[in-house]
Amino acid sequence: MASNVTMDTIVSLCKRRGFVFPSSEIYGGFGSTYDYGPLGVELLRNVRNLWWRAMVQEREDVVGLEASILGPSAVWEASGHVSNFTDPLVDCKNCRMRWREDHLLEGNYEAEYGATKRDAAGKLLCPNCGGELTDPRKFNMMFKTFVGVVEDTASVAYLRPETAQGMFYNFSNVLGSMRRKLPFGIAQVGKSFRNEITPGNFVFRTREFEQMEMEFFVKPGSDDDWHSYWIEERFQWYLKYGIKKENLRIRPHTKDELSFYSKATSDVEYEFPWGWGELEGIANRTNYDLTQHAKHSGKDLSYFDEETKEHIVPYVIEPAAGATRTALTFLIDAYAEEPDKDETRIVLHLHPAIAPVKVAVLPLSKKEPLVNLSKEVAKKLRRKWVVQYDESQSIGKRYRRQDEIGTPFCITVDFQSLEDNAVTIRDRDTMEQIRVPIAELSSMLEGKLALD
Ligand code: ATP
Repeated sequence: MASNVTMDTIVSLCKRRGFVFPSSEIYGGFGSTYDYGPLGVELLRNVRNLWWRAMVQEREDVVGLEASILGPSAVWEASGHVSNFTDPLVDCKNCRMRWREDHLLEGNYEAEYGATKRDAAGKLLCPNCGGELTDPRKFNMMFKTFVGVVEDTASVAYLRPETAQGMFYNFSNVLGSMRRKLPFGIAQVGKSFRNEITPGNFVFRTREFEQMEMEFFVKPGSDDDWHSYWIEERFQWYLKYGIKKENLRIRPHTKDELSFYSKATSDVEYEFPWGWGELEGIANRTNYDLTQHAKHSGKDLSYFDEETKEHIVPYVIEPAAGATRTALTFLIDAYAEEPDKDETRIVLHLHPAIAPVKVAVLPLSKKEPLVNLSKEVAKKLRRKWVVQYDESQSIGKRYRRQDEIGTPFCITVDFQSLEDNAVTIRDRDTMEQIRVPIAELSSMLEGKLALD
């Protein structure tokens, strides 16, 4: 079972400690949009950077890209999104609640909505009130807008609903400029937008969110092996950064849930407080996208294979993850309430590489020499890490505050430090304290805060 934390607890911690705020809150909020506060931006940045490190920096065969968010309708007609990126929308005739019909089927979203309800004839009923539902209507999830001053068909543009298409329509640009050979990948991190019918569960499903996607182009025939390879790689990435193994699983899609372009897809899923949910999908998109863009643009998007002297259209394996959803998952998985003496401490056992603040420097008293030395220590450490300096309230309260945001190490500067030039380091998880010379602090922390 997932950690026992409730979403209310996580939402309240996020607001109280500056991770995530409801957007436009002073105006009453704006449905399902959120702002990342001072600690949230650090957390999200760590997630992105660690993904980028594993997927681009440490690999010979992947390069990066940042494509535009706004795109002409031609791109989305070619990709199939204009006609196919739809969800089946049903309304309750009684309570007016709106649902995705596919979510209401047995086994799909029971943890969120309760058991599926049907009438005597087997027709789906509203999970909220048992009322009759309208027939499903296709609802396109893309945000449409107009570019320029005239709002006509020619000026229609869309906010991208996935980052992937930027990699496909830039395939030849990357191939030519980077002199790549198959297999190779193009990776991108950035915002995507979907007009979700039922956003919810905090930042799990929002209309504006951030994705981390990589399109890995391979020779047809090698696609099944590469698909298995990327499923395993991606699963390991979550484990490496501390997600508990019992809360993670790989789930292959059944034939009828596969996207129209996909030969096979497996999801990495996490057991959220409301049940299992997708963290990342790893799809074999075949040569669908390159073929479509070649057809619609009239440009050649094939690859010349030097070995066989043939032009081929590569197959694509796509690991597609959500950065914002992953950041939430790290928070949920790390959350713990632990007995400590006669109190309960709230602690986030975040992997040091994920933790928003790496080190806190805490003078034992506000006396000037201690404050000065502490600030000096903090200043040095700031050149390498995100550091908080905190001198207010008792040392116990300050430790608690740092535990609650997952800071791996607290450094206490005491009167003795003025004599022996040493400080105490407290470990968040074990709460053990050791004395370290200030001169050795940086190299010691370097070892403890290593990314691997
Ligand atoms: P779902 O079935 O949950 O709607 P999906 O299968 O449509 O997701 P993909 O198109 O595969 O999602 O997108 C890849 C990843 O992007 C997802 O695994 C998820 O982490 C993230 N993602 C997709 N939609 C959202 C959203 N509305 N809010 C936050 N993250 C999202």
